[in-house]
Amino acid sequence: MGACFVIPIIIVSVTGLITLAIIWKVTSRHDETPTGNSRPSGLGSLMGGSKDEFATIFESVSDGIVTVDSKGVITMINTAAGLLTGWDPKDALGIDYRSVLKFCDTKGEAYTDDINPFTQVLLLNKPMRDNTAEIITQGSEKHISVSLSVSPITDTKGLLNGAVAIVRDVSEERKAEKQRGEFISTASHEMRTPIAAIEGYLALAMNDKVSTIDPKARSFLTKAHASTQHLGSLFQDLLTSAKAEDGRMANHPELLEMSDFLTKLSEDLRFSAEAKHLAVEFVVGSNGADMHATSETSGSGRVVQPLYNVLADPERIREVITNLFDNAVKYTDSGKISIGLTGDDAVVQIFVKDTGAGIAAEDLPHLFQKFYRVDNSSTRTVGGTGLGLFICRKIVEMYNGKLWVESETGKGSTFFINLPRLSRQKVAELSGNSSVKVISNIIQPGGTTTAV
Ligand code: ADP
Repeated sequence: MGACFVIPIIIVSVTGLITLAIIWKVTSRHDETPTGNSRPSGLGSLMGGSKDEFATIFESVSDGIVTVDSKGVITMINTAAGLLTGWDPKDALGIDYRSVLKFCDTKGEAYTDDINPFTQVLLLNKPMRDNTAEIITQGSEKHISVSLSVSPITDTKGLLNGAVAIVRDVSEERKAEKQRGEFISTASHEMRTPIAAIEGYLALAMNDKVSTIDPKARSFLTKAHASTQHLGSLFQDLLTSAKAEDGRMANHPELLEMSDFLTKLSEDLRFSAEAKHLAVEFVVGSNGADMHATSETSGSGRVVQPLYNVLADPERIREVITNLFDNAVKYTDSGKISIGLTGDDAVVQIFVKDTGAGIAAEDLPHLFQKFYRVDNSSTRTVGGTGLGLFICRKIVEMYNGKLWVESETGKGSTFFINLPRLSRQKVAELSGNSSVKVISNIIQPGGTTTAV
């Protein structure tokens, strides 16, 4: 975990230094004497150096540094970047960055322009970071884990002149992270078995039909049983989060129609809410802010509910909705919990809304971090590991989706999930039947809310 914080800090400081140096180099170009000797002034004098010193620094930095002009042509590249890319820096000068800096993700998928930080910086004139990229070395085709920080180079009017990138080899850090993840997952896997045995024996000890215990012993055992259950779910969550991080989470995606899926799931979930006297509803065709989305009318004039098809593993989606629902129940004392479904051509949106205590603005940015629990009276009395939302987000991202929350203290919370909606053509392909009916299920006219 530590390394995750350290890398960006180093990158930020190196980026700042190098950007300063490059700006200085650009400005000091105007300070050359007629004989060609440099005369430090402006930023140059501020740094107390000369062009030669700049060149020495540029070459001494162990991170790769590459600058491009506004068209993406490489204008500067140091030796470290040459080693990472497999290019002789002299050969790389004057070439388009795409030919030299070949990035891919951890699965080996080549970066497309919409995710390539270089392209995005040149397009948006905004700094970009990427801590999960790999660079493919020319010739040996070796994949090296890198951390990237790309910043725009602008003139005094803010117009884009090019970009500067710091490319850092983080293979060792990634290896250490992987080993840590493997250790956590092996340890939690091994510990789940004895914990399950302890839990089972405690349950037997408390069972009147098989054991005789006095009330005092029962109260001790009840507490021990609850703690063991907590420990068991902590190890389960640790195992799941380790798997989610290193991509080993079980995933068997299939064509999933969300309105049917959520109708059934809401039925299963309502019991825990009802035990707390909370109402539960399933809302189709409206988002958390009660805006009405489209229903469709069939040829016969009947109102039909659109099908919200996604490609995902039902078990994983169940895990996410169940977690959000259980949280809603845990952190709501009165009122109702709504599970909702809506969408447009591109997106299927699911939400879980509660009328609970809400979440303070300062906690919102941290909510999806590992082990983060809001420190208030409800989390102190309600058990939890702080891993649930982290796992949920990892799962949703596995399907190229988005999970976020909107909440205000005292006004409840709404957790939204956006998943890519499958086109009719894709649904037909996946069903193996081109005549598959995409819009088919009928809803009661005038009513899209089902109390479950
Ligand atoms: P936990 O096991 O603690 O519930 P989660 O990762 O699921 O872990 O949630 C992280 C924290 O987010 C919780 O500890 C709680 O403070 C806050 N939280 C999550 N869901 C809600 C909700 N529906 N209402 C209020 N707070 C919530």
